[in-house]
Amino acid sequence: MSITYSIVAPIFNEIDNLPELYGRVRAVMESTGEPWELLLVDDGSTDGSTDRIRELAEADGRVRPVIFARNFGHQIAVTAGLDYACGQAIVIIDADLQDPPEVILELAEKWHQGYDVVYAVRAEREGESWFKKFTASMFYRIILRITDVKIPLDTGDFRLLDRKVVNVMNSMRERHRFLRGMAAWVGFKQIGVEYKRSARLSGVTKYPFRKMLLLALNAVTSFSYFPLQVATYVGFVAAGIAILAIPVVIIMRMTGSQAFLGQATTLIAVLFLGGVQLISLGILGEYIGRLYDEAKGRPLYIVSEAPHND
Ligand code: UDP
Ligand code: MG
Repeated sequence: MSITYSIVAPIFNEIDNLPELYGRVRAVMESTGEPWELLLVDDGSTDGSTDRIRELAEADGRVRPVIFARNFGHQIAVTAGLDYACGQAIVIIDADLQDPPEVILELAEKWHQGYDVVYAVRAEREGESWFKKFTASMFYRIILRITDVKIPLDTGDFRLLDRKVVNVMNSMRERHRFLRGMAAWVGFKQIGVEYKRSARLSGVTKYPFRKMLLLALNAVTSFSYFPLQVATYVGFVAAGIAILAIPVVIIMRMTGSQAFLGQATTLIAVLFLGGVQLISLGILGEYIGRLYDEAKGRPLYIVSEAPHND
């Protein structure tokens, strides 16, 4: 029997959210009257989520577990879900119920109208700190500015993807993945649907500041060379200032001015340029490290248990 909808949920220590996730997804999907499956990707949970996923799968054959050998990160967990999904439309959803499963019906409606990527736009966010909201909002705006792909504002991974989009994304095996960028890069017919992002049902965020920063770095380095070019711009400006300064200083000395004699000026200039150079090296390092990772060509993830795709 061919499957219409695949729901993909990445799970990292979400034991208390699993029953409600399953219950609500099931209620919503049954109301469509179409065959569906729920892929639960266990990203190295340590709180017993793995067993809970197995229990759900035993009780309902439409629940298909993909179990990782360790934690590989959210974007990789979703990638595995996309790899194993069999449906004609694939929905990516968070397991903490911040993305209400009921919105899937609205996404599906747009899909039936012929759209290939239907992303859910966060019109409102509940139960998140101002810091998270502020950094998230800055992040989406900076990314839009400096990348070459038009990644929609205030949009997470909650979205519906047509089979043909997923096939293209599955062929893109880059390691440092930013899925929303990849989905935008693919093209086809895309549209947004607004929704209200709820608070996390239970547990705490699995995205501490460090992981958010890494996601932002991956987003920027995957879709833009701008940070590499910044060094060039700063270099031209610094060299320009230096060239202009030479005649100015000569004239000052000839007219007996005592300005710029101190060590402080020299120190500031040296520290500033040294700083800029080190930052540029660090930026180069970010790109080179990623190049090295790609060159090694390791698998994106390792599964210890996966469903059979026939
Ligand atoms: N997640 C994951 N692996 C990780 C971190 C998170 O699979 O290393 C999952 C997590 O279980 C959840 C989703 O990714 O289903 C989004 O994470 P979270 O809700 O913690 O992020 P936030 O909504 O706070 O940005
Ligand atoms: Mg969340």
